[in-house]
Amino acid sequence: MPDNLHFKTVTDLQSLLAGGEISSVELCRELIDRKEAVDSKIQAFNSLDAENVLANAEASDQRRANGELRGPLDGIPIGLKDVIAVSGSPLTCSSRMLENFVPPYDATVSRKLKEAGAIPFGRLNMDEFAMGSSTENSAFNTTFNPWSSDRVAGGSSGGSAAAVSAGSVPVSLGSDTGGSIRQPASFCGVVGMKPTYGRVSRFGLVAYASSLDQIGPFGRSVADVAQVLQSIAGHDPKDSTSIEKAVPGYPEILQNPIGPWKLGVPKEYFEEGLDPEVKACIQKAIDWYADQGCEIQEIQMPNMDLAIAVYYIIATAEASSNLARYDGVRYSHRSEQSEDAIDLYFKSRAEGFGEEVKRRIILGTYVLSSGYYDAYYLRAQKIRTLIREDFMKAYESVDALLTPTSPFVSFRAGEKNEDPLAMYLSDIFTISANLAGIPGISVPCGFNSENLPIGLQILGKPFGESDLLAIANSFEQAHDFSSQHPDL
Ligand code: GLN
Repeated sequence: MPDNLHFKTVTDLQSLLAGGEISSVELCRELIDRKEAVDSKIQAFNSLDAENVLANAEASDQRRANGELRGPLDGIPIGLKDVIAVSGSPLTCSSRMLENFVPPYDATVSRKLKEAGAIPFGRLNMDEFAMGSSTENSAFNTTFNPWSSDRVAGGSSGGSAAAVSAGSVPVSLGSDTGGSIRQPASFCGVVGMKPTYGRVSRFGLVAYASSLDQIGPFGRSVADVAQVLQSIAGHDPKDSTSIEKAVPGYPEILQNPIGPWKLGVPKEYFEEGLDPEVKACIQKAIDWYADQGCEIQEIQMPNMDLAIAVYYIIATAEASSNLARYDGVRYSHRSEQSEDAIDLYFKSRAEGFGEEVKRRIILGTYVLSSGYYDAYYLRAQKIRTLIREDFMKAYESVDALLTPTSPFVSFRAGEKNEDPLAMYLSDIFTISANLAGIPGISVPCGFNSENLPIGLQILGKPFGESDLLAIANSFEQAHDFSSQHPDL
């Protein structure tokens, strides 16, 4: 058996499987053992059905033996954020509300992965209903950072980022409403991509803020992220917001990278609040692109300072509507103390939802209420359009933008817990991409003096995933940040 199998990329695993050096059963056994060995420290998993994983691995090995492989991901395990439905497997959203919920259907992404032969590997921890930036809002556990076990993995897809970083699974899926893929990827030193709104079907993704939510991949290399994106992207009749647009061959684009690119650096992203070590590291990455012959342009994004305020109006408004379905009557937690129907709603929701979720429902209900709708919600929608226009204007002169993913590295667990506003600032650089619907990727670009990972964010044009992957890949190939692993 090859050494350090748990840190191999999907690309490596594919050739080991193809060459008969390992079987999918051996690979999955190794990862189940790895998860057993390290997950008590980082708590990335909500659940893992080892028996089911091994049965799927055996079926894949059988297909391989018969020459009936379903696709390049056949036999490859993939972790799923606990907000994406897999038929017959618990789907908790890290909430007491859905603690006992088992969906009877697959999300479109789960179906596509299964059809490609990939093996769903565990349910990964998250902030409750994807609301948060540290995975401390999970009703079950905090997910810790594999690089420093007293620090957070980021959020809300903290489990998806930490499991990949720790070597428990080679790739995973998360969801990104305001940064929840890119920010934890940056904190955990892995690659994470939020595709364009509409590129990947949201059917079977539990809704937080439907006009912002998007599913995307995590991996230990850009190439792995490209492969997973390939298998989940595309139009889905079950999600009317998914776009009917051909899906390019993402992995092939990496074979013959185009460039050099015109890259924009928005000056608003480099002002106060940015940690000096992060700033220096991002500047180094920008200089590297310049050295490769890329034209670097300073860009202005005049409405960027409004992004957080706008996001917390729109996201909470949509959340207050989406979360109304958890009433204790159908599939969610039902209080046993209630006296009548109204009391049942109150008590089930009071018992089932955590503090941050309640805060957002209250905020969202407020901004939508008559008398405040025009002042908050309507104005936020107008500014959202201006933010999108800022990006579209920038893309008239550049192919993509380079920014830090997060203003700081992973923080200590508990540090921002009591201060929601400080927590919300974690997403200052990621949120505007969701408001504009554009794609973004975070790629490891260095470490600070305490050996904590730093992520470079690359933001692209709508449906410009190929460019983002190529730009990120060229950086990754010339550096060795992605191939460094935490010592657990
Ligand atoms: N941290 C942001 C929030 O709390 C974004 C979360 C996400 O992208 N799901 O809403």
